[in-house]
Amino acid sequence: MNKQKTYFNLPKKVLFCKKCVSSNQLPRSIPEFIHTKDRKGAKYLNFGKDGICDPCKVHAHRDKIDWKTRENELINLLDKYRSKTNQYDCLVPGSGGKDSAMQAHLLKYKYGMNPLCITWPPILYTDYGRQNIQNFINIGGFDNLTFSPNGRVMKELTKLSIKNLLHPFQTFILGQKNLAPKIASKFGIKLIFYGENNADHNESLAESHSSLTEKSMYTHKNINNLYLAGLKINDLVKRYGFKYNDLLTFLPSKTNEIPKNLKVYYLGYFIKWVPQEAYYYAVENTGFKARPFRTQGTYSKYNSIDDKIDDFHYYTTFIKFGIGRATYDASQEIRNHHIDREEAKALVKRFDGEFPDKYFSEIMDHLEINEKDFFKWCDKFRSPHLWIKKNGKWKLRHNVNKTGEND
Ligand SMILES: [Zn+2]
Repeated sequence: MNKQKTYFNLPKKVLFCKKCVSSNQLPRSIPEFIHTKDRKGAKYLNFGKDGICDPCKVHAHRDKIDWKTRENELINLLDKYRSKTNQYDCLVPGSGGKDSAMQAHLLKYKYGMNPLCITWPPILYTDYGRQNIQNFINIGGFDNLTFSPNGRVMKELTKLSIKNLLHPFQTFILGQKNLAPKIASKFGIKLIFYGENNADHNESLAESHSSLTEKSMYTHKNINNLYLAGLKINDLVKRYGFKYNDLLTFLPSKTNEIPKNLKVYYLGYFIKWVPQEAYYYAVENTGFKARPFRTQGTYSKYNSIDDKIDDFHYYTTFIKFGIGRATYDASQEIRNHHIDREEAKALVKRFDGEFPDKYFSEIMDHLEINEKDFFKWCDKFRSPHLWIKKNGKWKLRHNVNKTGEND
């Protein structure tokens, strides 16, 4: 057992899954609006006594599912909601990436629904992201509503969420998750579809058996219990000069503002969701294009490429949890039988934690953060049980290749 201190309630002993390359330091999803500075109540990836993580078990279980029966369940569900008067009958949130492209396309062109697509735009669009959303609308053929949040507030909140939580993606996640139920309510749409269930990557086994998202993930009862950038809403207003109405854009609706019969489903519950296949599908049907170069921190070219902040986000997960983007990608590809564990370990060794310098200065300029300050903030988030500084350089104590400082 490690003697070093651990931050954020992280599991003291670092374990690696025997099937994939994820460690038990991976956080399970919580609604971002209850994310506090000390990650109070945070839960991490569950490992069985057999040393295998829950997402690997979820995937093994998926191989045994009768997908024809699941598709019939989907068709029955859609029949209940399909508009007979040519109104929008479902809503698909997305920013033009491969997954939302496939979701929307299947719903409209295979299952005959009339989806309204909505986009909460990335914090800093890449050229490829901008092109892909245009292709999605123009080649795929969809009605799409793009929401543009107050840029100044977005920037200030993103800066605070990096400083307080080392979480550059929080504003995007919040905005994107909470916008969908709000817009659906305005259009009288009762059905929202996301793609994959979170359980496929970081949730517990029990959560993967549901096709529905719980209401508590996108509604709230009392604004005094909510946090943004790790701060209470009241604090943001009183101490930082934000206006309530500017913050509401990022927050979930009050429970009574969302119709009781609105449902949020994962299409991945009904259809076997394989990211690589979603990529091929989007290339063929919505003009999706991969980035012509490898994403820094990993080896892939087509996963989450629309926001410049994305590469940066995975660098921060490497600091906080010792888990970089190559670990996420390689674990997913092992579970989908594209690569084996030895190949995955080699990819992690080569790319995990690579510093994403391509857009770094541009991001810092945009958010008005001093580069030196950013690195100082990073060091505050390195849990002593994960990191050690040797000869002026940070090293992981443990890694999947067993070459860490304390392995
Ligand atoms: Zn695993």
